[in-house]
Amino acid sequence: INYEKKPCYDIVFSQTFDEFAFELEELGTGNRRLCIVTDSSVEALYAQTILDLIKDKCKKAVVFSFPAGEQNKTLDTVKKAYTFLIEEEFDRKDLLIALGGGVVGDLTGFTAATYLRGIDFIQIPTTLLAQADSSIGGKTGVDFDGYKNMVGAFHMPKLVYMNVSALKTLEERQYYSGFAEIMKHGLIRDHIFYEWLLNNMYEICEREPSVLEEMVIKSCSIKKAVVEKDPKEMGDRALLNFGHTIGHAIEKAKNFELYHGECVALGCVAAAFISWKHELLSMEEYYEIRDMFVPFNLPISIEDIDSQEITALTKSDKKMDAGKIKFVLLKKVGKAVIDMSVTEEDIKAAVEEISFNE
Ligand code: NAD
Ligand code: ZN
Repeated sequence: INYEKKPCYDIVFSQTFDEFAFELEELGTGNRRLCIVTDSSVEALYAQTILDLIKDKCKKAVVFSFPAGEQNKTLDTVKKAYTFLIEEEFDRKDLLIALGGGVVGDLTGFTAATYLRGIDFIQIPTTLLAQADSSIGGKTGVDFDGYKNMVGAFHMPKLVYMNVSALKTLEERQYYSGFAEIMKHGLIRDHIFYEWLLNNMYEICEREPSVLEEMVIKSCSIKKAVVEKDPKEMGDRALLNFGHTIGHAIEKAKNFELYHGECVALGCVAAAFISWKHELLSMEEYYEIRDMFVPFNLPISIEDIDSQEITALTKSDKKMDAGKIKFVLLKKVGKAVIDMSVTEEDIKAAVEEISFNE
């Protein structure tokens, strides 16, 4: 029996798509069918490029595409994908390639996890959120009945191929929204990385490929380290939820008008505030963390928000343990802790702190 705990896949970082065909050869795809799964926006930008690269490296290459947007991360779309794969005669040894952001990655992973009881898949993440965060860790799934990620599976990709140059076509708000998760990684695990982000602010905003590559590598390695210690989310993986308890509540209260990372930024500020109130952070540290989001076009305060409503929504979030809120606080920059002593009053005060009207 092999108790090897290391992940059984490669993560490749690059500034082009050129080496992707080589990576496929390494995986031995010569006699397998490949299906690129993508959304309408990414299809228009990159599907042909990938198709040209892979068509000689496999038995047959096809594209399955669905309309872009979270509202299509559903079982309905998965069903269409199954039908397509059956029509194209995909069998156990064939392979899916997720080309797109987190929506495509989650949906493709889930399709691969369940089609014929599980087939291989590869990720080519094309948003900053997907490169720096969601493509790592093996969580796949779809939304159901209005509940996010309600149905899913753990299914590891065979390869993750990241081309940071693909990020240049990303809409500005999407780009910075993904950046919020990177900042979160620095805050919870690595103060040196956090300072590096500050020092490279200009290059990051300009999307300078070599700096992006370094940033994505570092962000992934933090996520990977946390996930590998706790693959099924029994303990430390919860630290990745920093900024997410209040962040998710704001996301819901605002009916998903704000982007996920924008809500995470607000949630990080609120959680840093509570960390100060619990005397884990100093006041100076709190303000420094808060102001760090500003140059990256992320919000640190928000209008028209009801602290009572947000507090109630945090309680309905899934991060509960024996009726208490499992809250992630910061002990210092680079060190997060799980705290069970955060009260409703703490949350209310934090929401008032980030409220624009106060
Ligand atoms: P997304 O996949 O919807 O992508 C955002 C938009 O950008 C889409 O319209 C897409 O078509 C477009 N796009 C993608 N790449 C592009 C590019 N290179 N150039 C131009 N446009 C591009 O959203 P996202 O933020 O990447 O992912 C969000 C999803 O990720 C959520 O469903 C969330 O639940 C999931 N997620 C999963 C995990 C996990 O561990 N599995 C972690 C975090 C988030
Ligand atoms: Zn997140």
